[in-house]
Amino acid sequence: MKNIIFITGGVVSSLGKGIIAASTARLLKDQGIKVNMMKCDPYLNVDPGTMSPIEHGEVFVTADGGETDLDIGHYERFLGQNLSKSSSLTSGKVYSKVLNKERKGEYLGKTVQVIPHITNQIKEEILNNVKDHDVLFVEVGGTVGDIESLPYIEALRQLMLSNEVNTFLLHLTYVPYLKASKELKTKPTQHSVKELQSLGLKPNMIVTRNEISLTNKEKEKISLFCNVPIECIIESQDVDSVYKIPLILKNQKIDQIIADYFGFDLVKSTHSKLEEIISNINETNKEVTVGIVGKYVQLEDSYKSVIEAIKHAGIHHKVKTKIKLISAQKATKEDLLPLDAIIVPGGFGESGIDGKLLAIKYARENNVPFLGICLGMQLSVLEFCNNVCNKEVTHEEFGKNDNNIIKIMEDQDINNLGGTLRLGNYKCSIKEKTLAHEVYGKDSIEERHRHRYEFNNEYREILEENGMVISGINPERNLVEIVEIPSNDYFIAAQYHPELTSKLTAPNPLFVNLIGSIRR
Ligand code: GLN
Repeated sequence: MKNIIFITGGVVSSLGKGIIAASTARLLKDQGIKVNMMKCDPYLNVDPGTMSPIEHGEVFVTADGGETDLDIGHYERFLGQNLSKSSSLTSGKVYSKVLNKERKGEYLGKTVQVIPHITNQIKEEILNNVKDHDVLFVEVGGTVGDIESLPYIEALRQLMLSNEVNTFLLHLTYVPYLKASKELKTKPTQHSVKELQSLGLKPNMIVTRNEISLTNKEKEKISLFCNVPIECIIESQDVDSVYKIPLILKNQKIDQIIADYFGFDLVKSTHSKLEEIISNINETNKEVTVGIVGKYVQLEDSYKSVIEAIKHAGIHHKVKTKIKLISAQKATKEDLLPLDAIIVPGGFGESGIDGKLLAIKYARENNVPFLGICLGMQLSVLEFCNNVCNKEVTHEEFGKNDNNIIKIMEDQDINNLGGTLRLGNYKCSIKEKTLAHEVYGKDSIEERHRHRYEFNNEYREILEENGMVISGINPERNLVEIVEIPSNDYFIAAQYHPELTSKLTAPNPLFVNLIGSIRR
């Protein structure tokens, strides 16, 4: 029989359910268990693709072109495994499927209702994701008791009741520390479990988030009042790196408890690749500062994958990476001076363009290691053409002109914004004897995309005549994918998003070499 682990959250949001789920999944995967993961989001957008990153964090793109919640990024980074678009479920997606079926008359005259039709659809999506795996992790977004997530909770309840699958419920809560009375408080946890129970769910395990360590007294209290065995009260105290969490959970035997529950045999003492990499975190010998010049810097989550990819590369080199988010709308030269490397990431819209161009020009002229991503690549060619080739060019996203060096793809749908970008994996052929070839060590790669505009091939010649090298091309459509400036030590920019494929155990080469090229 298939196994499902549900992850719910209580007390407050933003406790890091995604990280706990991904860490636990990684521990099971290291035991040879085939795991899959999915996130259920209660909002009504069909996917987060049309949402501003400031609203909900970055939009993570899967290899198969799904625009998904950023938790899918955590899952992939921890698991070291690519997931598909079916890993991201939203209420919008569920409702649109149900309404489509209703229009086709598939409900045979019935009144279509939240229960059973919406809940059945949710169950169907969950069961589809466990088909080819031993264990599926299902994280429910939000906090238990929210009106929006009730259909998901009801679907979980029904699945837990059915004989179709084995289920396990992990509930994540917060145990606050009151400085004045020097006490950890378990009452909010008790209340949130009460809330779960009122919805018909009983947790098998409680994982607590806490600033200071729980004593046995608190664990006993939670165990007794929440009706969960004491060995199943697991704590996840604040740590300096989220990548240490899998081992913190393992030390409390989370994998053993779950394996025993489902009847898996655990291989005893395994020294996994993960443990080896995590030990690098403590061995860092120098610190470098990487600046991200972007327009969504109010919310760090907007650049989650970029930030994590920098960290992966830092851990790889045993270097501590300090990340400075610099607002593109306000950036000045003084902001750039302390940086050891500069990244201009992806983005949409005109605001902040001057700050991004300033950063690109500064990196190019001062030989600061530079990585341009998507809009960052588009602006790198624009800056080079304007300032090095002395030819005035513009970007079609900010106005259609006959000198657009970046222009809309002919087959682009500009009337419907949802799901119509160039999304997911595309091939890129890499020219020999270029930096890109050295970095990837391959003639051909696949990376993930999320953009609407493309480099205008009419400008290839002038760029190359003036010292820019076009080192990556999409072979099917002859689209420019990578550009570089060989007279600099490390100036490279990609139309795709290299941050999306970076994993802790397999950092993306463009980031590894960005950090590796810092000479200081
Ligand atoms: N706005 C640009 C485009 O649509 C770049 C997108 C991005 O950086 N992700 O092509």
